[in-house]
Amino acid sequence: MQNKNVAYDSKVEGEVIVTQADAVINWIRKHSVWPMPMGLACCAIELMAAGGSRFDISRFGMEVMRFSPRQADCMIVAGTVTYKMAEVIRRIYEQMAEPKWVVAMGACASTGGMYRSYATLQGVDRIIPVDVYISGCPPRPEALLDAMIKLQDKIGRERSVKNLTARKAETAEELELAGAGKES
Ligand code: SF4
Repeated sequence: MQNKNVAYDSKVEGEVIVTQADAVINWIRKHSVWPMPMGLACCAIELMAAGGSRFDISRFGMEVMRFSPRQADCMIVAGTVTYKMAEVIRRIYEQMAEPKWVVAMGACASTGGMYRSYATLQGVDRIIPVDVYISGCPPRPEALLDAMIKLQDKIGRERSVKNLTARKAETAEELELAGAGKES
């Protein structure tokens, strides 16, 4: 299938390729996802298996699991989210730089799973936005890879330039408000 994002004109000397900024930015982003492994329970074992040679998540350039939120852009929530951990998860999510994405791996992370109890959050999307959900208890490593491919597709459709401009305007507004606060 022809890639509509790229136009190649063989008549132009020097092999010039014309494309859109969104296409380039999204292409770079989707092939350099650095996951933040938020392993909370049994699903984390399947997440670890995805890094092994049998499933080999590095085929997608995602093997660089970062335990530092400042060097990660995709949180994979793998396991049961208790209320005790919820605050920690949100804090780590907030420390991750934009743009960032979240994958809810398994029934527990997506909905609370079988734990309909006072101690369990009924889905991590109650505290942070989730981009892709994975069903299963536990989902197999292949399911995680499938979700990561779906996430790549989603990143590929983002309006990156527009989002960057909007974020820049928001930051300028925040700085202006902070400056006004100091003066008063
Ligand atoms: S979904 Fe199943 S395997 Fe995953 S954390 Fe919950 S109970 Fe464990």
